[in-house]
Amino acid sequence: MRSFLIITSLSLFTFATAQKKLTVTKDDQFKTQASTSIQSNYDQYKTMAFQIWDYAEVGYKEVKSSALLQQTLKDNGFNVEAGVAGIPTAFVATYGSGSPVIAILAEFDALPGLSQTNAPEKISAGKDAGHACGHHLFGVASVASGIAIKKLIEEKKFTGTIKVFGCPAEEGGSGKVYLVRAGLFKDVDVAIHWHPGNENGVTMTSALANMSAKFRFRGISAHAAASPERGRSALDGVEAMNNMVNMMREHIPQETRIHYVITNGGKAPNVIPDFAEVYYYVRHPKRDQVQSIFNRVVNTANGAAIGTDTKMEFEMIGGTHDLLLNRTLAEVMQKNLEKTGGVQYTAAEVDFGNKLQATFGFPAPPVANAGIIKPLKIEMDAGGGSTDVGDVSYAVPTVGLRSATWVSGTAAHSWQAVACGGTEIGTKGMMVSAKTMALTAIDLFLHPELIEKAKVEFKQQVGTYQYKALLGDRKPALNYRD
Ligand SMILES: [Zn+2]
Repeated sequence: MRSFLIITSLSLFTFATAQKKLTVTKDDQFKTQASTSIQSNYDQYKTMAFQIWDYAEVGYKEVKSSALLQQTLKDNGFNVEAGVAGIPTAFVATYGSGSPVIAILAEFDALPGLSQTNAPEKISAGKDAGHACGHHLFGVASVASGIAIKKLIEEKKFTGTIKVFGCPAEEGGSGKVYLVRAGLFKDVDVAIHWHPGNENGVTMTSALANMSAKFRFRGISAHAAASPERGRSALDGVEAMNNMVNMMREHIPQETRIHYVITNGGKAPNVIPDFAEVYYYVRHPKRDQVQSIFNRVVNTANGAAIGTDTKMEFEMIGGTHDLLLNRTLAEVMQKNLEKTGGVQYTAAEVDFGNKLQATFGFPAPPVANAGIIKPLKIEMDAGGGSTDVGDVSYAVPTVGLRSATWVSGTAAHSWQAVACGGTEIGTKGMMVSAKTMALTAIDLFLHPELIEKAKVEFKQQVGTYQYKALLGDRKPALNYRD
């Protein structure tokens, strides 16, 4: 009896090991193929990234950037539906059929101002905008990843659908919210994304829910010295509102972030401005808190208008959810990121990195840290920024990573980030994410049970919440950068 048991468990063990070996071999083979095909097109993807970096088109104006990505996908056999969700530069590129349906998100908008050459010193490139958040790399890596998966589906290595979502205006335009609102993720099983960064790691940091609006005050113009009594200053309205909001900071949850810029404060001191505008962001880790604090900000605007005898109206500009993190998918992605490995620099790139770090004004981690992969964090953090990927994460299980496209210690939204993005330091970091996303998608195509597990986790997180866009039912704010 005893020996029988031993034999049975031994043969079971051998069987299980053999099975495992077989599967691992197939996974590895496909993963090597995907990584190799992405790497073999390095020059093409580098050229594309530099082109979009050079276009530097801001939110909803990314005509050339979006066209380049769409054309590349079309050339590779994708069916591209352009102008989705009422946004001319948004698109969905599809290859394959049936389930699973894996989506890869692509961004491509630049930031106003922040024009910079690819030198390690502050030199304007003489443009209106710059890729200070690396979204030129974002779009290209996602397209590269999608194409690598398409090749495997084409070769019948596995079945299913790969979709690349062209997502405009991440920077304040909430582009993805309209795609979610239009139901474009309804048939998607998992969404994969990434973001440029100054280190390599799977995203285990949430993002702040965010509501933004432009408050417009209208008054009456008059000569500021000769007949001030006839005028009503729209700028007074803005300033009164800002005063009240600044006092309100003492009486709101401390995790709240409120920031504003006066986008129009009049033209000349001797003319009482009849128009003034202030652009506000209200953020908090919790969506419902953002809504209630935002309502109080609206109250200050109404109060300011009454007190200054001006008229006020506001336009919702953006609204994004917090970001749900999926541990199941994060663990899958971590293995693939470790398999892919970090970025290795040439001596010239190390030299560039050292020069750039010298401009920071604070001590930065070693440049060689770009070669390191951060271990997966056990605890999930609340995030400091906001992203419209948050809304996608409420539609489908979502997973993302950051890779080192910027020299260690580089801040996003800085001229240094623009500079890195215009060199192969950016391109190399982009390749890490392109490969990691493809490898992660391969795991999902080959192991549907991972998708099921991710969905169980997703459903627990969303609970009974019925998704509702924080920006309401407004049409895409296509001119929010004007
Ligand atoms: Zn960004």
